[in-house]
This record gives sequence, structure tokens and C-alpha cells, in this order.
Amino acid sequence: ASLRIYRGRFAPSPTGLLHSGSLIAAVASYLDARTSGGQWFVRMEDLDPPREVPGAAANILQTLEAFGFEWNGEVIYQSRRLDYYRQALDRLAALGLSYPCGCTRKEIADSAISGIEGPIYPGTCRNGLPVGKLARAWRFKAPDIQIGFHDRLMGYQIQNLYREIGDFVLLRADGYFAYQLAVVIDDAEQQITDIVRGADLIDSTPRQIAIQRALGIPQPSYLHLPVLVNDKGEKLSKQTLAPALDISEVSGQLVFTLQRLGQNPPVGLIKASVAEVWKWAFSHWKSAEIPRQRSFQY
Ligand code: GLU
Repeated sequence: ASLRIYRGRFAPSPTGLLHSGSLIAAVASYLDARTSGGQWFVRMEDLDPPREVPGAAANILQTLEAFGFEWNGEVIYQSRRLDYYRQALDRLAALGLSYPCGCTRKEIADSAISGIEGPIYPGTCRNGLPVGKLARAWRFKAPDIQIGFHDRLMGYQIQNLYREIGDFVLLRADGYFAYQLAVVIDDAEQQITDIVRGADLIDSTPRQIAIQRALGIPQPSYLHLPVLVNDKGEKLSKQTLAPALDISEVSGQLVFTLQRLGQNPPVGLIKASVAEVWKWAFSHWKSAEIPRQRSFQY
């Protein structure tokens, strides 16, 4: 028998308050961990100060508490872990897998072909900064190989990083570390075994796997959930004006979220206490019932 202990997490960014889309990821990652006898951690991904909303981090934790989530250990704040990201970047640079880039956004846009997530970096600085250019950002040297992984819900996924994404940013020109680097370092630090998160990040996973491989970090298992989108197909977010979760109607929102996740809660559960809803969810959770699609409409 396997002695692997499940360690899951929820990793909100305090760029806005929690909304019904965030609740899907929180509920699914929590239930998947708890029903596997695992632990569940909360990590505040506050590494992008320009996009942060003052007070959002504290509000997110209060909301999670009001919804009855119980996490293990202390909440980790990415803003306090910059030294670790720096060390990782230094190691990647020493391995020849990261390089300084002096290109501006405009220079890239003018000469790049587009990939699945914006322009593919044309490689101008890949073999050394051209004379006259100063380092602005640091990039990861994307390998020209197929990176595949098994997603527990979506099945086998495959991506050629070099051809579909290109050399991607690890340290931004404004001096902040990129999500792709920080998430790998922190999932490793917290010994996360199972990642359950929105399918808006499924195309980021090969980037994270490439960094894991470069640093000798074991690969966690992945399950990407359908994300809520509006009628224009845009992910619910602060930018699309998603309403914040209302902590006066917790049971109803949990039951609705369970429904969205393909579980089959009895209608009457809406009137039950928050503890009863969780009790039902703990004994009925089936990850195999989650709809196998990248998004569903709000
Ligand atoms: N912080 C990311 C977000 O809020 C989630 C990162 C992750 O789960 O890997 O979208």
C-alpha cells in the first residue's frame, strides 16, 4: 500500500475578494484533500503588489473561515518568501536555464508570432544580451520537447513549451517574481502532493513541470477544474466584476457549488447548517463526477 500522505492547497491571489468562481477551487481542493485523509493548506499569493487590493488578503481568510474551511498550519505569504525565489532563480541561471532579457514589451510584440498565451518570445536575448541592451527581466529557456502530464479530470495533456509558449518570464521587468516560479518553489516547500485548481491554469502546468524538472523537484498530481465564465466566455474575476461571496448565505452557496462540481446534494441541504453541509460533502464527495470541461457559464 502507498504511504503517500496527501497534501493539498488553495492559493488565492489577493487581487480581489473571493467570488463564486474561487469557491469552486476552494471547495474541490478541500474536499479532495479531506476525503483522502490529507492535509489542506492555504497560501496567499500576494506577489504582485501593483494588482493587489488593500485588505483583500485578510478578507479572503475571514471568508474562508465563515464558510467553514479549516486549514492546516499557518497561512504562507508569498510576499515574505522573495529570498527563496531569488535563490531558485540563481540556481536556474547557474544551470544555464535562465537568462536576462532586455527587450521591451513593444519590441517583442513587433517581432513575435503569437502562441497560446500571447506573443512567443523571439529569442533575441537567449544567447546573451545584445550590445546596448540592459537586463530588464529574466526568462526561462523553454525546452523544445513535448511535456506531457496526466490530469486526473481532463486526461493526458501535452505541450511543446518552446513552440507554444516560448521562453517565459521568471522575474518581471518591474522587479517582481512571476507566478510560474513562485508557485513551483512554494508547492515544493509545502510538499504539496496534489494540486486541484482552475482549468485557466492547465496551460501553465507544463511551464511549472519544466521548472520542477530543472530543479529536481518531484511532480505533484494535477486536477484542473472547470472555471466559471460569463456569457462572453471571460473568467469570473475582479476585472469582470464578479460579486464577492456573501457570508450571510453560506449553506446555499456551498450547496450550489457542490452542484456545479457535479455532486448531487439533496435540495433540502440549503436549509441545513454549514456543518451539516460539510458533513454531507465529506461523505459523498466524488471527484470523478466533476464535469470534464474547461469552463461553464455563470
Ligand atoms: N493564485 C492563483 C489564482 O488565484 C492560483 C494559483 C494556483 O492554484 O496554482 O488564480
